[in-house]
Amino acid sequence: MKQLRFDNRFVSELPGDPVDDLSPRQVHGACWSPVRPTPVRAPRLLAYATEVAAMLGLTPDDLATPEFATIFGGNRLLDGMRPYAACYGGHQFGQWAGQLGDGRAISLGELIAPDGQRWELQLKGAGPTPYSRRADGRAVLRSSLREFLCSEAMHHLGVPTTRALSLVATGEAVVRDMFYDGNPRPEPGAIVCRVAPSFIRFGNFEIFAAREDLTTLTRLVDFTIARDFPELEGDPLTRRSRWFHTVCERTALMVAHWMRVGFVHGVMNSDNMSILGLTIDYGPYGWIDNFDPDWTPNTTDATGRRYRFGYQPQIAHWNLACLANALVPLFPDTAPLEAGLEQYANAYSEANRTMTAAKLGFDRMEPEDLPLARELFTLMQQAELDMTIWFRTLARLDREAPDLTLFGEAFYRPEARDTHGVALSSWLERYAARLRHDDLSPDQRRRRMDSANPCFIPRNYLAQQAIDQAEQGQLAPLQRLMTLLRQPYAEQPEHADLAARRPDWARHRAGCSMLSCSS
Ligand code: AMP
Ligand code: MG
Repeated sequence: MKQLRFDNRFVSELPGDPVDDLSPRQVHGACWSPVRPTPVRAPRLLAYATEVAAMLGLTPDDLATPEFATIFGGNRLLDGMRPYAACYGGHQFGQWAGQLGDGRAISLGELIAPDGQRWELQLKGAGPTPYSRRADGRAVLRSSLREFLCSEAMHHLGVPTTRALSLVATGEAVVRDMFYDGNPRPEPGAIVCRVAPSFIRFGNFEIFAAREDLTTLTRLVDFTIARDFPELEGDPLTRRSRWFHTVCERTALMVAHWMRVGFVHGVMNSDNMSILGLTIDYGPYGWIDNFDPDWTPNTTDATGRRYRFGYQPQIAHWNLACLANALVPLFPDTAPLEAGLEQYANAYSEANRTMTAAKLGFDRMEPEDLPLARELFTLMQQAELDMTIWFRTLARLDREAPDLTLFGEAFYRPEARDTHGVALSSWLERYAARLRHDDLSPDQRRRRMDSANPCFIPRNYLAQQAIDQAEQGQLAPLQRLMTLLRQPYAEQPEHADLAARRPDWARHRAGCSMLSCSS
């Protein structure tokens, strides 16, 4: 691993915390604090993502050395690494929460890959930082495995996301009260090494605006544009306007993809929104089984359902408005920020229209198609149809002879076939008629649909089964999921069992349909 090259621009170009002290505290006038990972008892490599390793320039020999777990478990630094924790704030569940910061994420450094691409390597669960508040800086295996698995699955699904290099067991127990019900228990600890061009969040800007620290805010904005958006041109003000515009567009695209694949983030606080428009901070996220825009996997959010599936596009807009507010002092007037927010709405509708057309197999979405699509979503919710299975099956519908019996696997409630059968058949008739007038041939349509509608997703219960097994030392189920989810759009008959709808036992089981923020 000696060949790895780091340039660490975040710490070399932005102001840092002069205090080298891990005690929880408010950090002022600094974008980061120097922190070293706290060593763990027995780091052991549980899994790694081959593609990410190759992308970073790690060789198979690097992956095979025991040193790999030592480094990515946080017990040793490589030459050139300059570890730090970032200072940020955020709006949590609609309220300004003040300083948050990397409480358990420690960035090791910015690596320059063989192809010249920049990748920041960040350990999650590597021990306390000045931002840990009263918590321990650690992460449990169940949450680390979920982040490792899902971020890679999202990448292969074509959703903008941070990546994951490795999952390392710490050999130490971490105590968590999973349901905040007074029953803490020790669980195995683990560390994910996550990878992204940047981990800067909306909250990194919000904290300096809230503190009226314009100097640091301006430095951070100009740094972000220079490092992460080098393609933006013009004088400084034009670049800032274009930058906000781009952030709005990228966020819109990310959320449209979430809606396409049925992903629910679960904690869309503004500190969990990436400035690059990447899905970031996998916590109590979930996947839609039976189509339900009101569903949230996060038990902490069960009452308000702020972060429910169908509300994600609005919440992203709300978060962008928080970011815009933080940026106001950098603009002579608010017009460019308002234009950016408007662009979010346009970009989202555009992306959503294109993706819905692809999901339905239309060459393009005509205005008259919208009511047809809307009606389908209402029926899917009422009849409790599995989103993934429904769309995958829809691609196999014969437009000359539409037939509801094809869709048997999509039903969670057998009686819905009777109660909603007529309405669904009528919808299929109208859909088939629409297909008969479309420019795409049946083959083209199927190909288009099969590249927009995954066959495999990391369903909540599948991740939970992989966790249960990994906690017993069995990594085969995780490895099988990782392999399968590299090609989520391809039929893989040998894995057909993993495309099945959620089994009844998982409907109300912890980890399968209900998740807490405890991790
Ligand atoms: P999250 O809801 O996971 O995005 O976390 C919100 C804030 O809490 C961030 O500042 C995290 O760094 C911090 N945090 C969450 N879990 C821990 C932990 N186990 N130790 C220290 N800080 C944590
Ligand atoms: Mg977070």
